[in-house]
Amino acid sequence: MPAIAPANRIHPLCYEHHSEMTPRKFPASEGMSYACQELDCFVSYSGSDGYFLNTQDPFVIKGCPIPPHQYCAHDRYPMYLLEVQLEHPNFRLWRCPHCNMSRLGGQLT
Ligand SMILES: [Zn+2]
Ligand SMILES: [Zn+2]
Repeated sequence: MPAIAPANRIHPLCYEHHSEMTPRKFPASEGMSYACQELDCFVSYSGSDGYFLNTQDPFVIKGCPIPPHQYCAHDRYPMYLLEVQLEHPNFRLWRCPHCNMSRLGGQLT
């Protein structure tokens, strides 16, 4: 029985809004990408490129925080934001879409 590609089952969060992103098909990227549902938010994620801003507008790119890039220690895949905790603003739980390894970022303050 063929395994389902992990990319079909991931639920990345927008690193700005911490809301779950929805699957989108971008013509430029291979495979599934995800986009934030918030209005005026360009944050996107793809399993091959990690987080990126889905705009060519340099003014918008300048005004947005630089997309975080966390890479898996095993296979160097770009990790996505799996979990944040409201009571711990610095807490970040990252997950690799390839091997499912998790990594804690930030600290519990
Ligand atoms: Zn967003
Ligand atoms: Zn990995």
